[in-house]
Amino acid sequence: MTVQHSPERTTAPTPSDGEVHAAVARARDAALWWGALDFTDRKGWLLEFRSRIARTSASLIDTVREETGKPKDDALLEVMLAVEHLTWAAKNARRVLRERSVHPGLVSINHAASVRYQPMGVVGVIGPWNYPVYTPMGSLAYAMAAGNAVVFKPSELTPRTGTWLADAWASLAAPHQVLQTVTGDGRVGEALCRSGVDKLAFTGSTATAKKVMAVCAETLTPIVVEGGGKDALLVDATADLEAAATFAAFGAMGNAGQTCAGVERIYVVEEVADRFVDILTSRVRDLRVGDADDAQYGRMTLPKQVDIVRDQVEDALARGGRAVVGGLESVRAPYVDPIVLLDVPEDSSAVAEETFGPTVVVNRVRDLDEGIERANASKYGLGASVFTASKAAAERAADRLRVGVVTVNSVLGFAAVGALPFGGVGDSGFGRIHGADGLREFSRVKSVTKQRFAAPLGLVTMTRKRRDVAVARLLLTKVYGR
Ligand code: NAD
Repeated sequence: MTVQHSPERTTAPTPSDGEVHAAVARARDAALWWGALDFTDRKGWLLEFRSRIARTSASLIDTVREETGKPKDDALLEVMLAVEHLTWAAKNARRVLRERSVHPGLVSINHAASVRYQPMGVVGVIGPWNYPVYTPMGSLAYAMAAGNAVVFKPSELTPRTGTWLADAWASLAAPHQVLQTVTGDGRVGEALCRSGVDKLAFTGSTATAKKVMAVCAETLTPIVVEGGGKDALLVDATADLEAAATFAAFGAMGNAGQTCAGVERIYVVEEVADRFVDILTSRVRDLRVGDADDAQYGRMTLPKQVDIVRDQVEDALARGGRAVVGGLESVRAPYVDPIVLLDVPEDSSAVAEETFGPTVVVNRVRDLDEGIERANASKYGLGASVFTASKAAAERAADRLRVGVVTVNSVLGFAAVGALPFGGVGDSGFGRIHGADGLREFSRVKSVTKQRFAAPLGLVTMTRKRRDVAVARLLLTKVYGR
């Protein structure tokens, strides 16, 4: 069967600004109910939501396939990862977010001190099209588990996938609109930024993130940004080259390269470079590309992305790079066959800018340290992979790579680990989704002290005694000055 994929034909309502505000107002009502539930009750609802998604996933998978053009198996995998995160968030919110006591310290010994993580209220989530279930779920699940209601604006290319998720929630808890979807383009996203949400979780390109941040700045609405990437994969001389090339092929070509933390640059140590390139070539050369059910990846979801791929390949070749797999002829919209470019100048757009297509640049380096240096030269800093047999080298790379996630001897290792926070540095964004940090990202932190008995030193008074000040002076010089 060939899928009828056509994002242009995916139509969905475009709400007015007033309608977006009304959705946020409904969410605020729902948040009162949801935020007042205890963790155990919320966990029950969220696990029910999880089961509902899993039980009826066939139609979600079909919707993702129709809207993005990705193979069915990829859509299935994405849904599986999303429910894994939903499960983790549901099961761990209480442990991470329940009130915890902290030691008050010497000066405040008469107080009991504690930290509370309270729901923020309503979280706006703006999502991309490349993983239209998995990516927003990294915000939805963690925001909801932290006790917030969510208004979700999916990409204009994947509105039905977004609506499917809100409908799945509504089928469980219709009167409580804890999760709603508003469809539409950037204008609707902007309205959501201006709607008075208590936090905005944005996933998308760095260029849009800057616009979102500027609008959120008007109302000092806090945001978390999951932006683009230009992830590097490093291959050490000691690496298992078969494994490195096999994972590199998946990291670079999977989902037609439309993966924020996909492999876009490979730095391979000179002495194993030829052998590595040979194996990589054999892994990607014959990939099946298209809309057929047995395709290994599909079309480019966003038509204009094809031009970016073409421009970058053209630039790389014009500046001395060599295509060892494919070339300009591989760009045959709406598909792009695999392209592997060798020895491309570091300042060319194929190395410096996000490609978001099934192309990868392989450049040789003297040693792993040079690979780390080149990887870190990017303005992006989302993820990186390193292949090495040396534990010490792996540790050094994990320490020194300027990114949010590092995978050793694999690719995208973080993706299914609910406990691991995910996010980047630099142009890849800030803040974290997933894991305990992801739950806290959607919480309002409140510190509470309760005086248990009168202070031994009367310092918080307008009538301090000379004796108490003398003891304070002694503390300062003798205890802290030790
Ligand atoms: P995009 O920036 O074009 O759009 C993202 C979302 O922002 C869409 O929902 C869009 O409608 C909305 N939007 C556009 N203009 C807006 C505005 N002015 N105000 C508010 N919202 C606005 O990104 P995309 O093409 O949908 O997705 C691809 C990008 O997303 C790539 O750069 C990719 O690396 C990145 N991405 C990052 C992650 C991550 O977790 N770091 C995950 C997936 C994708």
